[in-house]
Parts: sequence; C-alpha cells; structure tokens
Amino acid sequence: MLDVIEAVDWSAVPGPPDWYEPDRVATGLRALAGATNRVQAAEAGSLLGCGGIVHDHGGAVFPAAAAAAPLLLDIAQQGHPVAREAALGLLDEALSFRPRAGYERVRTPYGRSVRICCAIAHHLRARAAFLAGQGRAGKFLLADAAAHWRFDIQECVADGDGTAALGLLAGYLQGGVPHAAELHVDGSTALLGEVALVYPPVDGSLEACLRIIGRRPRELAAGATLLPAHCGE
Ligand SMILES: [Zn+2]
Repeated sequence: MLDVIEAVDWSAVPGPPDWYEPDRVATGLRALAGATNRVQAAEAGSLLGCGGIVHDHGGAVFPAAAAAAPLLLDIAQQGHPVAREAALGLLDEALSFRPRAGYERVRTPYGRSVRICCAIAHHLRARAAFLAGQGRAGKFLLADAAAHWRFDIQECVADGDGTAALGLLAGYLQGGVPHAAELHVDGSTALLGEVALVYPPVDGSLEACLRIIGRRPRELAAGATLLPAHCGE
C-alpha cells in the first residue's frame, strides 16, 4: 500500500493553490496506514482533512480526494480499526464537500472530465461488499454514492425521435421522471437534456435501458458513459 501512495505525484494533482497542500496527502496516507491508536489516527486524519484531500473547516474537497479514495478504502480494509474509522470519515467528507471553482473535475478511465463526487462514488461502489459490512458508516456511504449514478452504454437503437440505450446502470436513477445527463465519449463531454429510465436493473443485474430523447443513435456510441448533469450544484 505504501508503494501505491508513493507512486502518485500528489504535487502534480491539480488543486486550489491557496487551499491544497499536496505534501499533506502522502504523509497523511502513510501515517493513517500505520496508525494503531486514536492519537495517531487523529493526527493522520488532520493532515488529510485540513488541506490534504479536503478542507473540513471550509467544507471543500480537492481533486486529490478522487485519487486517494481507493487508497483510503485499502486502509479501511487492511488497517487498524481506528484507521478504518478515520478513513471512512474522510471518504464521507470527500463525497459530501463542495469542490472549489476550477477544480471540480478529474480524469478517469470512463471520462476525461468527471466530477470529483462521481469519481469517488465509483470507487465506493467497487467496494460495496466490504462497505455493506461496516455498520452505519459503510451503509450511509453506499447510500450517498448511489445518487451519483453511472450508465455505461453497450448498444443503441433508434426509438421514435430518440434512442433506446441498453447498458449497465450503477447507483440509483429514479424511473418515470426525466433527468439531465452528461454524455462522456471519446474524451469529450456533452449535455443531454432528457434521459429517462425505461427498464431498471432487476435481480442483482446492472442491465438497464434508458430512453434518450432528441438524440439519434449515431450521436451516441457503445462505450460512452452517462453521468448526472447537475451533480453537486
Ligand atoms: Zn456526482
């Protein structure tokens, strides 16, 4: 885990210059990974929580939080119980705090410019089985992550004046009402004014069907990802 922490160049991760202190991230993550009592966990938590990945007094989250999320989950899974508690608390802050202007988005494998909250939610869902076993803290994190839904398009067919998109839905999207969504494809981002859930996932599968109003199948693409449009605004 320490190698993975060192492998990230935290000073190369963008952040608001008067808030983000990259030196605190690696130091804080290392300290939290090795923490075995409450004093050590609290010291590590304040490094990360006051200018590292978030600023708790300012209620601000930085792009570094998205890169640190899988490491905090590793610490929660492998570290001392006091470190786990601190890591889950930091993830909760990172998901709920607001980004600073100009530092709202991060690069991910499924989109070049994804909101920090949606990127963190993706990491949380990847550890759903672990988090579900972590009492209230884990269950609240998963419930909060669900609002940052994600739909990966696998197939598009024409449907009236729009498109029926078949794919995989992670998180929760309310059926029966239109949603605004961001379309992430080939490194670009476009706004879709109206997306509606037609067939929700059933029986533990993620397969779902969305109707995308006013867009032809050729404007969309297999491999594209839809994310909520007004997340965190
Ligand atoms: Zn989000």
